[in-house]
Amino acid sequence: STLLDVRDVSKRFTMGGLFGRKVVEAVSNASFSLSAEKPEIFTIIGESGSGKTTLARMILGLEDVTEGEILFRGEKVDRHAGREARLKFMGNVQPVFQNPFEAFNPLKKIERYLESTARRFLHTNDKAVIDKAMDEALQKVGLSLKEVRGRFPHEMSGGQLQRCAIARALIPNPPLLIADEPVSMVDASLRMSIVNLLKSLRDDLGVSVIYITHDLATAYYISNRLIIMQRGRIVEMGDARTVLDNPEHPYSRLLKGSVLSTDDAGAGKLETQPEMVKLANDMVGKPGKLVDRPDGRSVRVYETA
Ligand code: ADP
Ligand code: MG
Repeated sequence: STLLDVRDVSKRFTMGGLFGRKVVEAVSNASFSLSAEKPEIFTIIGESGSGKTTLARMILGLEDVTEGEILFRGEKVDRHAGREARLKFMGNVQPVFQNPFEAFNPLKKIERYLESTARRFLHTNDKAVIDKAMDEALQKVGLSLKEVRGRFPHEMSGGQLQRCAIARALIPNPPLLIADEPVSMVDASLRMSIVNLLKSLRDDLGVSVIYITHDLATAYYISNRLIIMQRGRIVEMGDARTVLDNPEHPYSRLLKGSVLSTDDAGAGKLETQPEMVKLANDMVGKPGKLVDRPDGRSVRVYETA
């Protein structure tokens, strides 16, 4: 059975301006699903502006879908679903955002944020129950309530605070986390420990993770399956290593070829190349079709003129 089913989802933003309305199609007909039995790290790769965050926000219910539907364990949870279905769903999928310093209120102790999540999802005000839930969640990320208690966000490193954000996300025991570039604000030296933490959540706790990145090296290391997005469209989907070892779509090939192979910080990052811009422009107006292939991957193909 499926945990998450994203069916033909599109998102258009309409922006009013002095010179008329402008419509941006941030996500176009995205479809994929995650299995309920087999937890995995499902990665969304794309350049900046390719629609990764918009797709994540729709799954989280933070953004309405323009078209299509999103189902969780077979039940609709997009905006057409009732309020009840959406509320029930909220504890089941939890976000981890890019910048933990934005997730936490700088004027409040870290434990306040964890506490409010615990109160909301455990439906209790019992301090002992809440403390226990917080401590358990913090233990899962290698911390403890004792270490965190009394501390303000600025008293922790980015890496530690991101761990706290992940702990907060784990409080409702969600089967699915959505991590949107969760290590890009974390010091290079601590990135791998966060990436490995997500892996261990999958392997030890059976949590599925939708992992968003523009870092191909991390994607290769962490992912079971992945999708590559170009201007709101999925151009290739499949087993991570199969796709990254041997990309088939012209855009995926360009992406792989354009990875900066510099040292440390830049390693694995994508850099937009003139060829990528040209290819993207050539494909405007050619939606193509995502075709399933026998090797388990899907590749977008275009009719030749
Ligand atoms: P990514 O996360 O891959 O960088 P986003 O999902 O943030 O991409 O953005 C995809 C596209 O949608 C971009 O062109 C962006 O400018 C546009 N977009 C995102 N959010 C909004 C919004 N709230 N209003 C208008 N346009 C938006
Ligand atoms: Mg983004």
